[in-house]
Amino acid sequence: MDFTKAIEIAKDIYWVGYVIPNDPFQCHVYVIKNGDESVLIDPGSMITFPVTLNKITSIMPINDIKYIILHHQDPDIVGCVSTLEKLMPRQDKVFVTHWRSETLLKHYQWKTPFWLVDQNDWKLSLKGGRELEFIFTPYAHFAGAFCTFDKQTKTLFSSDIFGGLTEEFSLYAKDMNYFESLKLFHVHYMPSKVILNHTLNNIMKTNPYLIAPQHGSIIKKPLIEPIVEKMRDLDCGLYMLDEKESDIFLLNKTEDLLKKFFEDIMSLSSFELLLKNLFYNINKYIHKLKKICVYKTIDEKDELCYLINSKGVMDKTDDIKQADDNETSLVKTLTKDDKNIGRIEFYFDDLQEKDKKLVNIFLNKILIPFAIGFEKDIQYHNLQAKVVRDALTNLYNREYMDEALKDKMSSSKKDKKPLSIAMADIDFFKKINDTYGHICGDTVLQELSKILKEYMRKSDIVVRYGGEEFLIIMPSTDEKSAISKMEKIRKLVEEYKFCDGIVHVTISVGVYQYKGENLCDFVEKADKKLYKAKKMGRNRVL
Ligand code: GH3
Ligand code: MG
Ligand code: MG
Repeated sequence: MDFTKAIEIAKDIYWVGYVIPNDPFQCHVYVIKNGDESVLIDPGSMITFPVTLNKITSIMPINDIKYIILHHQDPDIVGCVSTLEKLMPRQDKVFVTHWRSETLLKHYQWKTPFWLVDQNDWKLSLKGGRELEFIFTPYAHFAGAFCTFDKQTKTLFSSDIFGGLTEEFSLYAKDMNYFESLKLFHVHYMPSKVILNHTLNNIMKTNPYLIAPQHGSIIKKPLIEPIVEKMRDLDCGLYMLDEKESDIFLLNKTEDLLKKFFEDIMSLSSFELLLKNLFYNINKYIHKLKKICVYKTIDEKDELCYLINSKGVMDKTDDIKQADDNETSLVKTLTKDDKNIGRIEFYFDDLQEKDKKLVNIFLNKILIPFAIGFEKDIQYHNLQAKVVRDALTNLYNREYMDEALKDKMSSSKKDKKPLSIAMADIDFFKKINDTYGHICGDTVLQELSKILKEYMRKSDIVVRYGGEEFLIIMPSTDEKSAISKMEKIRKLVEEYKFCDGIVHVTISVGVYQYKGENLCDFVEKADKKLYKAKKMGRNRVL
């Protein structure tokens, strides 16, 4: 396609614009060749006019133009009109526009009279039967904006609607990617979603075959419907406003991030997933995000709750290195009802000023819903902690044990690693209760629980199985090691002075290594060994 020449885009309709070098905001001019009643649409500015004039005269005498449509009064449309007027001696030529534009345009003191669409039934019949229809599109984006529809070719000269900010000049929209260019333009220039939808409804009644906007690219039939469908969802204008920022590229990215965040917060089942997506989405725009940390604040102390990096959500006990020299951090305090509930930290490698702005605008907009979500997550975990623990000893309960054991059994199978359990029971506990009282019995249970928690590994799970029975799950531990570990504990208990030194306690323990049984049988095997230990005289590990 030779853009230095006039290009026929439909029967007798020519694109006569000028490709402005390195400008995402291209401005198109069209002409309808119709003998001595030809029509020029949005003639352009002095930047584009010399080329436009050449192109027009290459296809017809300039004096054939009778109607000059001015869709509105912006300089990229009317900048050349004073010059153009002087080049056209024809006396019966008119400027076709809306009264709202006329009230402004008359200040140019042009000699050519105005022909107002609103006073001519929104129609213009041309010699030879060609008919133009004008479609009112108020507030998109000027109060008196309108579009022109050529009934013969079903071409819609849509003025600013369907305009786009294109990285590279492309006379025709190639595919749905044009929507991104169009989106950028519309979210910023159209005042609101309601107005844009009203405009689209009016336009689509004509069922256009070709859309020729003043900016961006021409849209052919197959792309019109799908693009219009997507346009209906665009949040425009007011929605895009930020107090201080007006860079549309930056605001557009922020909007994308916000949209995703609010979709996630409504649909995702956990706060952890929300954070994972947050990391992923920010990283799409700023590749230098290294990690996100979320802390909860209780009594002015901070506790790390989540650490997310490119590997996903990490164990909370993982090392958090202090920021390196080339690392930037962005910290936001999380508040709920004016109370400090925590903070979120973002660590970046070499964050640029532009990206910093983006993250800042985005974070300031999500901070309140984020804090609410985080508070709910804290409450959920507190509740969950209560539900899975035994009130007297704070050890895990049977309900939790079932889930945890199932999980460890399947990991053991999958990773081919040993798994052992120990069933421990206090010897003659009834007698302790009878001799020292129930309260002392309770203290024994609490003190023994503390010993178990302290001396077992972090990865082991200690459960209060029943009254004075405990089950200990030991992942990655074979029977031999489990027995020796329990033997150490048995000795410790034997030597420990319970209830301020007055009570002497011993325990019996049955240890068993997992061999692929189901959960019930697995526990029963350990229980049987415990029973055997009791029978053999107690205070022993089998
Ligand atoms: P053995 O050596 O055969 O295990 O004898 P034992 O007395 O320890 O066993 P038994 O099952 O006969 O008695 C267990 C006692 O534990 C009975 C029960 O009252 C007591 N017990 C269970 N739960 C609690 C508790 O929460 N607090 C107190 N203080 N005692 C409890
Ligand atoms: Mg414009
Ligand atoms: Mg007992």
